[in-house]
Amino acid sequence: MLYDELIAKINAAKKNWGIIQSDLAVSQESTKFLKDSYLIVRHAFAQINPADYSGNLRDTVLSNKEILREARGYQQFLKICNAYAQVEKKHKNTFEENARKKTAEDLRAMRAEYEKFNLAELDFSDDFCIELRFPGIRMEMIQIIKAHPLIDESLTCNCMACIRVVLRIN
Ligand SMILES: [Zn+2]
Repeated sequence: MLYDELIAKINAAKKNWGIIQSDLAVSQESTKFLKDSYLIVRHAFAQINPADYSGNLRDTVLSNKEILREARGYQQFLKICNAYAQVEKKHKNTFEENARKKTAEDLRAMRAEYEKFNLAELDFSDDFCIELRFPGIRMEMIQIIKAHPLIDESLTCNCMACIRVVLRIN
């Protein structure tokens, strides 16, 4: 899946979640529960904050390589992300004035190289779903959320024990 498509799915989930929150916020208690619940992107072995795909893609990829398939730009992107992380670390740990000017320059050059990379050369795994996480186990409230039409009923079990709730993303 292309990066833009992944971001579109995340945005669709966010939009659906916003609608669910406003539909079901009928009391002070439910409003608070809904406000404290949040979305995560769940892969087989990783749970990722949706904001990290746009705000922190480099670190997200480095610590969760399974979100990428080995496409055209895969190796090159990992190489750039690794190099970027090293340059960043060096700059952070450099305090002497002249040396720091040099690491700041390296960092700028690195950023330019990273930004030149075309994210459309990456293939993101489509083996994920976007789920809700709750601030506590309040099954009566969770059951009400599960019954909302913007919840994916094919991936969400309706029984009183399950707390896995999957958002529709299309
Ligand atoms: Zn169940």
